Amino acid sequence: MKLWFDGEVADAGTLQADLTTHAMHYGSGVFEGIRSYATAHGAAMFRLPDHLQRMRKGAELLGIDFDIAQATEATLQALRANRHRDAYIRPLAWVGAGSFGLDVTGHAQHLMVATTPTLVHLGGANTRMTVSPWRRNPASSLPPLKLCGAYVNSILAKREAKSRGFDEALFVDDRGFVVECTGANVFLVKEGCVIAVEHRDALPGITRDTLIALTGAVSRTVTLEELRDADEVFACGTAAEVAPIAAVDDRTFGDNPVSRELAALYARVVRGEESVSQAWLTPV
Ligand code: PMP
Repeated sequence: MKLWFDGEVADAGTLQADLTTHAMHYGSGVFEGIRSYATAHGAAMFRLPDHLQRMRKGAELLGIDFDIAQATEATLQALRANRHRDAYIRPLAWVGAGSFGLDVTGHAQHLMVATTPTLVHLGGANTRMTVSPWRRNPASSLPPLKLCGAYVNSILAKREAKSRGFDEALFVDDRGFVVECTGANVFLVKEGCVIAVEHRDALPGITRDTLIALTGAVSRTVTLEELRDADEVFACGTAAEVAPIAAVDDRTFGDNPVSRELAALYARVVRGEESVSQAWLTPV
């Protein structure tokens, strides 16, 4: 596999990180998860500028210089070097070697982009979720951006859910409001209405935004009680796409016709098969 790293395309196996890398000790990095799809006009990345703008917000918080034009070029070069069409793209910007102090001033900064053939995150229609005993990082402590260290929270919730035989964890806050999953946002369907779960601690997902634009879904807060009472629930994210949920703990759902229809619509949109697609695609 080839990587784009600090301006060059190199074989992943030839690259090494210093053991004093700040990000490895403290999580001082920011990443994105982007997809490219094979379309009738060649490979194209979906909503690339939106992903890179979100990444820049995280980089700014950490004091990491981040140039969207350079990152755009890096993703294109990485995809072309690996000849990937349907791919998952992982840019990562991080604070590198320096002292062990927390102050990031004066540390090296790096950017890499890796691409892998498509990764399916919440595969198929059989995802079973459980309410996590962990709380989501509150936005007042860690803004909902793709900061590396923030994902320890998701790792804990995922591990705990898996230890009880579930596929995914659902974060709910102290007042009983649904937040999101470990790496995806949540929607519900009730009597034909599509509702996008809104919460200040949840990542403002680009897939969520796409689905709201496509369906006119209402965005609002939702309690766990309301979610369990829904006709359908689905998770969504760049990797997960639209993933119908089979169960939330002991509440099981049927065959999720609306979620499956939206999954099919989303699949056509990202592959350039709908009129709205073009504005969202960056050709590779
Ligand atoms: N929430 C979290 C915690 C995530 O990691 C992701 C994946 N980026 C999402 C939601 C979905 O965001 P997006 O649709 O932008 O991929």
